[in-house]
Amino acid sequence: MRRVLIGLVALAGAGLALGWYFQAEIGERLFAQGIAAAMNRDDIAALPDGLHVAMCGTGSPIPDPSRAGPCTAVIAGDRIFIVDVGGAAVRNFGPIGLPVADVDAVFLTHYHSDHIDGLGELMLLRWTGGGYSRPLPIFGPTRLDAILEGLAQAYTPDTGYRVDHHGEQVVPPSGQGAVARTFPVPAENALQTIYNEDGVRVQVFAVDHGPVRPTVGYRFDYGNRSVVISGDTVRSEMVARACDGCDILVHEALNSDMVEVARHRVEASGNARLAQILEDIKNYHTSPVEAEEIAELGNARMLVLTHIVPAVPNGLIEAYFLRGTGEAYRGSTVLARDGMWFSLPSDSDAIERD
Ligand SMILES: [Zn+2]
Ligand SMILES: [Zn+2]
Repeated sequence: MRRVLIGLVALAGAGLALGWYFQAEIGERLFAQGIAAAMNRDDIAALPDGLHVAMCGTGSPIPDPSRAGPCTAVIAGDRIFIVDVGGAAVRNFGPIGLPVADVDAVFLTHYHSDHIDGLGELMLLRWTGGGYSRPLPIFGPTRLDAILEGLAQAYTPDTGYRVDHHGEQVVPPSGQGAVARTFPVPAENALQTIYNEDGVRVQVFAVDHGPVRPTVGYRFDYGNRSVVISGDTVRSEMVARACDGCDILVHEALNSDMVEVARHRVEASGNARLAQILEDIKNYHTSPVEAEEIAELGNARMLVLTHIVPAVPNGLIEAYFLRGTGEAYRGSTVLARDGMWFSLPSDSDAIERD
């Protein structure tokens, strides 16, 4: 028995030594296989016809290494739409199977920096990856033009370098950047259609994120399925009206008890400025319990909480974040994480999760 054990240990040691000696060769094979797998991957084509939601960023302005800034992808038939593009969100696209070069349009809810931090990166990678001759359409409320003009200015040197280096055939200059599709914010209580093509309808509605104005939410309909995205807002019955029996309500969430605990600690440490900011942010978001009240009022079949404030790095803190939920709402509540997928096949009742 002892001999067998000694033999096994010796074998394992020899294996490790061989692995160590051929590290670069093993890495070379893994790299080539990884590239081939990435090139052959087409997660979108594998989806059933329907409406799908991919969480490309579930965080907020508060740094959280496990969550990119706010970003929700909505795939409707063969169209790919991105709602808000927070910092680091675009870096999630590859790992979660979203082809950045195939994005059809972006919808912005408002212009807080955390919702647009990744916009320049998305515009650039879509252009260089797709070789488009027309810029990316971006839908948003008033002031969008100024933001896109500023971004165009910031990216002017880079655009020049890319065209000089790769040539106009590969990266047509006319396709770089974005074109603003600005819309007036709908009146209170109104839903307004801003996109209606090939069975995909997108409606917009005003929410309350004062003093940040305008701020809107979106409703997507395709194949008799529907998804509503709240945008940043206090508890707003307009979100419930926009949902009105929707399949999935993607709602922002801030736990003000947790923010208060953080504020208290920050104040005690002598950082009055950060304590003030933490005090201020409590008054323009929705708590998880309030989001459930809105989901119940709007008869949502599933509630997906995103834009998570503060950072919730593990399961125990997630449970704390959700404390008090499960009473006001009869549907199911999901605390979103980056990379989660939800699928709503056309003309069915199914909600599939991955
Ligand atoms: Zn935000
Ligand atoms: Zn905001």
